[in-house]
Amino acid sequence: MKEKNKISKCIVVILIFIFLIFAYMVFYAIYNETKTINLFEDVETTEACLTEYIVYGTHLSLKGNLLIDNADVKNVSLCLRTINEKDIQAQLQYTKEDQGISFYTSELINQGIDLEELDVNEYYAIIKVENTKGKSKYYSIRNETEYPNIEYYTITREGKNNKINIAFGQKTCNYMFIKVKNTYLPENIYDIVIDAGHGGGDPGAEYGGYREADLALKCAQEVKTELEKLGLKVMITRDGTEGKEYNASTVYKENGRVNIIGKSKAKYVFSIHLNSIEKANSQSGVEIYAPPKMNLDFAKAFASNIVKYANTNYSTLDIRYKVSNGIYVRTFQDWEIENSIKEAKEKGYEPYNITEGTTYLYMLRETGGIATGAYVDGRNSKYGKNLFYNSNIGLEAYLLEIGYINNEKDLNNILDNNSGYVKGIVQTIKEELNINSK
Ligand SMILES: [Zn+2]
Repeated sequence: MKEKNKISKCIVVILIFIFLIFAYMVFYAIYNETKTINLFEDVETTEACLTEYIVYGTHLSLKGNLLIDNADVKNVSLCLRTINEKDIQAQLQYTKEDQGISFYTSELINQGIDLEELDVNEYYAIIKVENTKGKSKYYSIRNETEYPNIEYYTITREGKNNKINIAFGQKTCNYMFIKVKNTYLPENIYDIVIDAGHGGGDPGAEYGGYREADLALKCAQEVKTELEKLGLKVMITRDGTEGKEYNASTVYKENGRVNIIGKSKAKYVFSIHLNSIEKANSQSGVEIYAPPKMNLDFAKAFASNIVKYANTNYSTLDIRYKVSNGIYVRTFQDWEIENSIKEAKEKGYEPYNITEGTTYLYMLRETGGIATGAYVDGRNSKYGKNLFYNSNIGLEAYLLEIGYINNEKDLNNILDNNSGYVKGIVQTIKEELNINSK
């Protein structure tokens, strides 16, 4: 009898315990739900329309408009609200329109909201408008783009990553929902891609018995090794075992260069090349190519560090698309656009939408998705298709022409001093990504 009593007492205690846990869960859910709904108490009924949101490299860019009386607008920002903490503001640019305002993060594609800086949390993003009297109003965000969400993994630091989901939600109003949580990189996702130019059946430039493809690969492989020592997860686009069938016309194949870079979901791609010019020894030095509409600090750091550590010089090439010492931004010229239209007509497909602002180098253009105007969508049957041409998440890309293969001084330096070039490249990435040595 005593034993039985003990057992039933025990059961009662357990039941009470389970009930308490259940009650707590219900209470917590209701509490959170109420808190979330209360988050939007101060939000106006007018909605901001989001017309574009893109992740390029490590930054989120936004564009949109808001139909409000714009007379006394003084400041516009993206307001990131959390359940338990104070709002965080990300500054937005704005222009006053005939009706209301247009807002955007930056005119530069690699500037905006730095996803690497977001702490683990759940953010409800709305638009905040301050007027000249210092009063603030809040507006919900409606997604008017064709993209429902973005999934982003931060760069590996001390073996850890954050996973960021950007989506849209609705409670009492519409908002952009940004969820940041700790995780590790899935097997098929990388931090950085190193592209060794040319390869297989495409030797690139040749001089004095040396091939660009081989020298670029040697440099690329060492860069990869050094970056891995910093704890970064690095993919290289080829390893030298590729056969003759690997060449310039297979870059858009399913497993070609462009598509494996897109699949890597890395944040950056650095493409390593050696330059060449018609007249041997007429030019020398380092050229860094970047897409247009970029903050060029990263490109400038590459140029100056390679010059410094490899003991070489900024390129002597003075040409219309040179921006500053060692920095080049190459877009399409009139006659190249005309040629592209001509080719489309001959082959019977609708011409690409190429303008004078379109990035010329495919490695910089196609790896960035819509941010850099990627356009190889398969309409020209000569090539395959960039599976990521229409993606709103893309890699920040730089093409590094480390020197001229047909300049004796550059060639000898690249042959004798490969580690100097590697040091210049790795040091730049380490500095720009704020990677601490272990
Ligand atoms: Zn090349």
